[in-house]
Formats: sequence, structure tokens, C-alpha cells
Amino acid sequence: MTGRLTIIGLGPGGPDWITPAATRALDEATDVVGYGPYVDRLPDRPGRTKHASDNRVELDRSRHALTLAAEGRRVAVVSGGDPGVFAMAAAVFEALEAGDQAWRALDIRVEPGISAMLAAAARLGAPLGGDFCAMSLSDNLKPWEVVEKRLRLALEADLAVCLYNPISKARPWQLGRAFEIVREIRAPEHFILLARAVGRPDERLTIRTVGEVRAEEADMATLVIIGASTTRLIARPDGERPWVLTPRSYGAPA
Ligand code: SAH
Repeated sequence: MTGRLTIIGLGPGGPDWITPAATRALDEATDVVGYGPYVDRLPDRPGRTKHASDNRVELDRSRHALTLAAEGRRVAVVSGGDPGVFAMAAAVFEALEAGDQAWRALDIRVEPGISAMLAAAARLGAPLGGDFCAMSLSDNLKPWEVVEKRLRLALEADLAVCLYNPISKARPWQLGRAFEIVREIRAPEHFILLARAVGRPDERLTIRTVGEVRAEEADMATLVIIGASTTRLIARPDGERPWVLTPRSYGAPA
């Protein structure tokens, strides 16, 4: 048996948002490696070993996965959303780059998934219809000054900005500081969208203006989308949530 390592995106929530290719790779795996909650979500099955680990040990987890694959096992490394977006793909390739030369001959694949920003955008309408960017607000792996600088420049470029990892117990003030920067650059009537647990039973979507949004409304299961200056709402009847549109073209609607 030759080893294989597949880095799999499980999508943002339920089984409907996992690709058939990802499901197949999971079915074929003898070993599943990943952050506890993702691994726990998978059913137990004979012949498949689950290796759950803490969120902060991505490089150790990656080396472990590569070692198992080198021993001939079929390993699935799982991530929520897409594995290439602030997730395990980069960790595995960093471990590969720094590790045993023999690992480079391994059969390694990445199976994409629906990232939180795409799931959130789909629920809200078309908030990412124009140019946009994505940032992680976490300063665990990069200095906070870098985060602030990138955010400021993205806002000045009038991009819509998706913020991953907006807030956590260990990082309580960063989102509030980010909103201060937004208020310097966007107008109070511009929009900020909070998409929490998209695709899960406890999903919650909130539309706020820059003037009214508060950091306490977000948690670590929330994806924050800062609208561009052109982002607008389309009202719906009967108190239903409006659609959000960032048009592709600048200027008056056609
Ligand atoms: N690889 C993942 C992102 C991992 S970073 C992806 O592509 O989606 C973790 C962050 O992703 C969370 O803090 C949150 O900001 C966002 N996130 C993940 N799942 C989410 C969901 N179902 N709804 C909203 N945001 C989510």
C-alpha cells in the first residue's frame, strides 16, 4: 500500500456543503488528523483511526500526518471551510518544506471546500460582487501592526474586507480596534455584515451600519464582512432581511 495525504475542506457546516471529492477522500482514509471538533464531527468507522488535536499545534499535527503517510497510510487532514484559507494546507506544506526530503515524493492532494466567506456571501445576496479581500484578524502568527496596516490599506482601496478569526477569549480587543479604523475610513451609513455559524443550526446573519456595529456582537464562529462604500441593501417585504449587493460596476445602477 502506498501512502497518501489529502488535505480536505469540510465546508462551513452541514454535509450538503461538502464536495463529493472530499467525501470520497474521507471515505478512503485510514487515518483522519485534525482539530478536535472537526474530527469529532466524523462518524466512527472500523479501520479508520481518528487523531484529534488542539487548535494551536498545526505544525506538529502536520508532521504527524506526513509521518503516517510515509508509513504507507491513507491520511486525511481535515479543515473547516477551505483548507487553503487560514487553515491546514499551509501548515502541511510548511512542514513538508522543512521536513524529511523523502516526504516530497508522497502523493499529496488538496480537496477544496466552501470557505466561510463564500457561504456567508451566498446567504446575504452578493456582498462580494465587486473586488474584495480576506484577512485573518488573529495576531497569533503575525504582529498586530501588520494587521492594522493591511486593514487600513484595504479600506482605503475601497475593497470589501472579509475578516476571519475576528475575536476570541485570548484576543478580546482586536475587533474593536479594527472597527475604530473602519470608522476613520468608511462613512457611518456604510455596512458591516456579521455572519455567524453559517450552514449550521445556530446560524445568525446580522446587517449593521458602520456607525452602530459593536465588537461584542461577534464571536469566534463569526465571519465579518466590511462592505465597500458601494455596498447597498435591497429591501424585502414583511420585515424580511434585505439582500446585500456590492455591484460589479461603479456608478449609477443600469
Ligand atoms: N478554513 C476556514 C477558515 C478557518 S479560520 C474557511 O475556509 O472557512 C476560522 C474562522 O473562520 C472563524 O473564526 C470564523 O471567522 C470563520 N468561520 C469558519 N466557519 C464559519 C461559519 N460556519 N460561519 C461563519 N464563519 C465561519
